[in-house]
Amino acid sequence: MPNASVPALEVSGLTKVYDDGTAALDDLSLTVPDGGFHGLLGPNGSGKSTLIGIITGLVRGPAGHVKVFGHDAVADHRLARTMVGLTPQEVHLDRFLTAREVLSFHGRYFGMTKADANERADELLVAFNLEGKSGTRPNRLSGGMRRRLLIARALVHRPRLAILDEPTAGVDLELRHDLWTYLQRLQEEQRTTILLTTHYLEEAEALCDDIALIRDGRILAEGSVDELIERFGGPRLEDAYLAAMETSR
Ligand code: ADP
Ligand code: MG
Repeated sequence: MPNASVPALEVSGLTKVYDDGTAALDDLSLTVPDGGFHGLLGPNGSGKSTLIGIITGLVRGPAGHVKVFGHDAVADHRLARTMVGLTPQEVHLDRFLTAREVLSFHGRYFGMTKADANERADELLVAFNLEGKSGTRPNRLSGGMRRRLLIARALVHRPRLAILDEPTAGVDLELRHDLWTYLQRLQEEQRTTILLTTHYLEEAEALCDDIALIRDGRILAEGSVDELIERFGGPRLEDAYLAAMETSR
């Protein structure tokens, strides 16, 4: 089906060298269409979080171009950021705020009125099954609840693109499946474009419409699960992934 809409994300020629000389991204290009569930898979240190940091304005000074829904995210990361909701890899929640405040303050930060932010906070507390915990501080929540709160926080300001950096890392299997349900609902009901990084390949297989494989700061291959399996060998995405990562550099 032809899709004339502006891509959620357009990255071209992106290179990032950290101050200590580490080359994290090497002329990386990637396009993520508007809508759908997209995976970014690669080993530790391949550059996933650096790429996400640049998209969200947290990592500065790259060479190259990043557009979020057509807006230059390098020159003006503020505007791009309003369109992006980020669940960072590290769980970071202010322990002096209640769950509801974590959400409503985030909305205020992004310019929502107090009433709108509160209403949205309550809506998300229900959507993520946290309504009974609205007055609870994050350090009193279970690990799974904290994860859900973190994902909910990324969505308060109704971003068109949600970026989830290893949202299920270290989460037990049962809870992981719960989170999948939330993420699928989110993508379908809220029409949010999702970019997900994960080390759980069965998770990517279950959720993602298409997948980009990243290695050494470059995109190695892109395609649907079936396309990657056809190209690199199956029967599972895991097999294709391992074979792709072994291809010569
Ligand atoms: P991933 O998220 O795929 O594990 P990262 O983007 O975190 O990869 O890291 C890519 C490379 O950049 C790694 O070699 C990592 O050690 C390095 N790196 C990440 N952040 C920094 C930093 N702040 N300073 C220096 N090197 C960094
Ligand atoms: Mg990372």
